[in-house]
Amino acid sequence: MTERGRIIANFGAAVAVQLDSGELAQAVPLSKVDLLVAGDVVDVLEERVTQIHARSSTLQRRDQRGRPHPLAANLTHLAIVSADPPGIDTLLIDQFCVAAENAGIAPIIIINKTDLYDEAQRAEYEALLAVYAQLGYLTFSLSREDESKMQALQASLEDKSVALVGASGVGKSSIVKTLLPDRDVRVGAISKATGLGSHTTSVTYWYALNTMGSIIDSPGVRQFSVAEPDTTALRRGYVDIAQAAQDCRFANCSHRHEPKCAVKQATDADVIAKWRYSNYLKLSADQDE
Ligand code: GDP
Ligand code: ZN
Repeated sequence: MTERGRIIANFGAAVAVQLDSGELAQAVPLSKVDLLVAGDVVDVLEERVTQIHARSSTLQRRDQRGRPHPLAANLTHLAIVSADPPGIDTLLIDQFCVAAENAGIAPIIIINKTDLYDEAQRAEYEALLAVYAQLGYLTFSLSREDESKMQALQASLEDKSVALVGASGVGKSSIVKTLLPDRDVRVGAISKATGLGSHTTSVTYWYALNTMGSIIDSPGVRQFSVAEPDTTALRRGYVDIAQAAQDCRFANCSHRHEPKCAVKQATDADVIAKWRYSNYLKLSADQDE
């Protein structure tokens, strides 16, 4: 009998699947099945993956030749973590947002290590989060010492499938440890039940959170970096710019030097944050090189 399941991890020769019954199993993909990644929903028959269900989203990295490789499937949210140290970089946050928007994944903006900031820095990150909140994104400020803030994040993830990304040193590992205190135990249980992956640390795993939510995590996902967006992706991925652009005189307006550019007007009127517009200009200038 065919059963439905969720790919928990791909170990190369075989995959670990959590069947809808709750049972953990190993399976081998039929050759006609595309590369499976953590988060994929599949049909399994007699320890073979016979079919992959259509993904609602795919997080993919690009290799040196620009070819896409899937990292995780069916994410609903990408949690973009920043902190100082190493420094809060809005250009990097925007690049992640553009990549997420184009993949059909909703960004969540997290500022971490709030215990380290003085009054002025706090005002700065609150203003920054307000801009992203205005775009419709969920925003959080966190500190590992502030349990109530961690709980707020945890509660909001209950119906989401999320991955954490951001520069090295921002505190992603610490956040994952809070969300999944028993992670090593779970990895051990998967390995025991399926016979797969007992000595692998680089593999991407799908983990169920307390209720409906899930988190997809690995060193590779945490180090996820975005490819240069093309012009179309860039214009679509800046949702505030895309919205204002509906009133530009030219349909293919670059929002740089055209007369009566509605994006420039919206920026002058502070409807679009000036730093968002300036990040957009930087990324679109990269396009021309
Ligand atoms: P990752 O590279 O993003 O996974 O970052 P880590 O989780 O390894 O954290 C990097 C450093 O920041 C470590 O030294 C952590 O102890 C520290 N760190 C993480 N979270 C916090 C926090 O909320 N406050 C402070 N002050 N330090 C933190
Ligand atoms: Zn324009």
